[in-house]
Amino acid sequence: MRFSQAQRQKIVIAHRGASGYLPEHTLTSKVMAYQMGADYIEQDLVLTKDDVPVVIHDIYLDDVTNVAELFPHRARADGRFYVMDFTYEDIKTLEVTERFNTSTKKAVYPNRFPINRGRFGLHSLQEEIELIQGLNKSTGKNIGIYPEIKNPEFHLKHGKDISRIVLNILASYNYLNKDDLCVLQCFDIKELKRIRFDLNSMLNLTQLTEIPLSQTDIRNVASYADAIGPSIALIYTKTKKGTINYSNLVKIAHGLNLKVHAYTFRADALGYFKSFEAMLQQGFLEAHLDGIFTDFPDQVIQFLNDRNL
Ligand code: CA
Repeated sequence: MRFSQAQRQKIVIAHRGASGYLPEHTLTSKVMAYQMGADYIEQDLVLTKDDVPVVIHDIYLDDVTNVAELFPHRARADGRFYVMDFTYEDIKTLEVTERFNTSTKKAVYPNRFPINRGRFGLHSLQEEIELIQGLNKSTGKNIGIYPEIKNPEFHLKHGKDISRIVLNILASYNYLNKDDLCVLQCFDIKELKRIRFDLNSMLNLTQLTEIPLSQTDIRNVASYADAIGPSIALIYTKTKKGTINYSNLVKIAHGLNLKVHAYTFRADALGYFKSFEAMLQQGFLEAHLDGIFTDFPDQVIQFLNDRNL
């Protein structure tokens, strides 16, 4: 896997943009992440009714938009509003806000951008690529994209082949092989394998996982992917005695030539760490991660630059 043009060895992936500072996945948060110097900017992708990949974290619209006010009659039986039940034209009428709890209406991260303030919207994968490629041209930088195929099985159940659609769009913007600054990620093992072997993608692929993988599982991942993207909990955990316990995931992955990009590093969700710096220290210097997904790219870049990492 090629790194970005940054001189750093470690890579910084702006998780949903600079989402610690602006509503997640808005173009504004992407511009901010770009300006902060992230190596890659992330896009989570879900298809609309008319097969447009929208950049949004979930298959639902109701916890980041005003969809419930605008289209109250369009909820499914479970009370949720699905991206897939709306055309792209409908989606463009929605306003995006900081993520909130749909029952309490309170912000999930109370210290972030205020909810129901400002004016933000949803956009397509194409719009975001054009923004990033446009900035690459005007600034002379070369910042990458890190798209994620969301819930491929759910899409397929509704007759939609999201991976094929996304790969075609990526190809049309010249993201075709490992030298192109694009890493495609997915939690679904079967789907990522299909992307490599059936859809014949030559892109860098990251296998996300939130469950522990055996050595055999990781060897399997190495047969089709370039990196593994585990949750932090799969890298290290705190024991009852208060010491840090490391899993052997990074060691096994590195032995198989897989990079490890862990998620998610948040300065306002430190878990058992006393500071964000301590959390980053653990991730980069003790656990030897190659890259991290973070809501606060500026703080991570500062940390790496201060240490020449
Ligand atoms: Ca993601």
